[in-house]
Amino acid sequence: MDKGIVIIGAGQGGLQTAISLRQEGYGAPITLIGAEPDLPYQRPPLSKAYLKDGDPGKIQLRPESYFVDSDVSLRLGQSVTRIDPAACTVSVGGEAIVYDHLVLATGTRNAVPPIRGVEKAIGLRTRADADRLRDELAQPRDVFVIGGGFIGLEFAAVAAAQGHHVTVAEAAPRVMARVVSPEMSKLFHSKHAELGVQLHLGQPVQELRDTAVVLADGSTIPTDLIVLAAGVVPNSELAAEAGLHVENGIVVDSNLRTSAPNVFALGDCARFPEPLTGEMLRLESVQAAMDHARLIAKVIVEGSAPDYGALPWFWSDQSDWKLQIAGIAKPEDASLMAGDMTALRFDAADRLICVETINAARTHMVARRVLAAQTRPSRADLSAHDFDLAALYKASA
Ligand code: FAD
Repeated sequence: MDKGIVIIGAGQGGLQTAISLRQEGYGAPITLIGAEPDLPYQRPPLSKAYLKDGDPGKIQLRPESYFVDSDVSLRLGQSVTRIDPAACTVSVGGEAIVYDHLVLATGTRNAVPPIRGVEKAIGLRTRADADRLRDELAQPRDVFVIGGGFIGLEFAAVAAAQGHHVTVAEAAPRVMARVVSPEMSKLFHSKHAELGVQLHLGQPVQELRDTAVVLADGSTIPTDLIVLAAGVVPNSELAAEAGLHVENGIVVDSNLRTSAPNVFALGDCARFPEPLTGEMLRLESVQAAMDHARLIAKVIVEGSAPDYGALPWFWSDQSDWKLQIAGIAKPEDASLMAGDMTALRFDAADRLICVETINAARTHMVARRVLAAQTRPSRADLSAHDFDLAALYKASA
């Protein structure tokens, strides 16, 4: 009899794996194990709408009836403590569950920087974190956010709109430096300044006290709520202890297979070959987790699948600005503005690799099509069309 599939992690990617397996016609048992007590939910709203409305119904990905109807055994509030790839078992609550295939969808957790008093800060990773922060924001606060990345700035925008006094400290010299161009950083810096957010750039936090934060330059900022948004680390310990190849994430091939037979990894915890360059990459995005899950289901059901080739895309909502990013670039890659709210980024060969837009959904969708094409346009191609992506796309169609 088929032993079936065990999925560790009932988040975005873990759930999608179960859904896609059933859609692909997989008939054997599926066990989905999640450490959190909640039905699988979307994390992106935790730093956006859910922080304001607190409505769990709006973030839930599937109702309880889905799991019964689809014959997916859902085990919530349970942590897998060990994997044995030789015996094909996982240990949970003293029980060993046997598998034919195992999917690791364990996500990430907040990185805890070496700051004195860091335990005073509240992270924003789970629904429970968001509930706690919403309660804190029910009274006027001097909010201090550690980290000027997507999550820190999204939280800052919500808190500022609610009338709180908000300060953000970022160790890098510009906001969202890891993911966006200097031009976009500048625009968002101005936006947050307009919202009344105090930004301290190039300022690692040195110490958290009960009523203040001390920055690297010695300045002391009074605060009564500190939010930690200084990056994440992959939950890869289970895999490492089981002898799987782990290096800043669980290393997988272009079919999302780990170094152990019949064991896959996906989403935030997986490090996979980037389709265009082959460089190993770990992405924290819903799109990657979902596309990985769909591909794994195909590989399991059909025995193989084409190499993973999805174009990465991301979004971030800050105040009334929706930032959308198609493709991926490194901080050092060249960039230029094409219009007021669109930045184009180029690799060393001057090929377009990434397009960043604010409140321009149509341009974002065109960018996804342009970047998914076999040959990416060069800076010269774009220049010939006045850096108008839609015109270039129309001409090449
Ligand atoms: P997750 O959804 O994180 O799920 C992993 C699950 O595994 C967790 O529930 C964890 O408890 C569980 N787990 C871990 N170890 C074990 C174990 N041993 N046993 C059992 N269960 C275990 N992405 C975007 O694309 N756009 C956004 O705007 C955006 N906003 C975000 C805002 C916030 C506040 C956060 C926290 C994330 C945001 N993200 C966003 C990132 C996005 O949510 C993740 O990329 C996505 O959830 C990854 O899915 P995953 O399945 O890999 O991991």
